[in-house]
Amino acid sequence: MHYSQVLAELEKVKVGERISRRKADELRRAFGARFTAAWKLVKEGRVKKYVFKPSGKVQWIVVGRERDYIIYEASGYCSCDDFYMSIMEGRAKACKHLIAQRLACELGLYEVVEEEDKKYGSLMEEWRKVERPQNLPLSTLTG
Ligand SMILES: [Zn+2]
Repeated sequence: MHYSQVLAELEKVKVGERISRRKADELRRAFGARFTAAWKLVKEGRVKKYVFKPSGKVQWIVVGRERDYIIYEASGYCSCDDFYMSIMEGRAKACKHLIAQRLACELGLYEVVEEEDKKYGSLMEEWRKVERPQNLPLSTLTG
């Protein structure tokens, strides 16, 4: 999607009040193509906010084509290859998933999924599953 279409979409969902055109421009300048990709993820409803009960623990997830990505918004961490390859080496500021999470959060365009605390461990295990064999084991990233 071209950026002008992204702007049109932004206006359509009445984000003018929350994300101004200037802000959107700033985002595009800062993130380039990743911003466009991020907006697509938001529009496709791929950003999920898991809220665990009763602890209230929150885990953001971006649902990808081949796997899910774990977002730690506070530390600005994502479990994708782009994060590992580009961000940790200083070539980019954020991957599309992190941008998507921030956009979705700011716009309220995310799905809330409520789960019980006891399911946290098994869900994390599922989210950490890496289906493509070339991926590095996540344990090396998350410590
Ligand atoms: Zn990512």
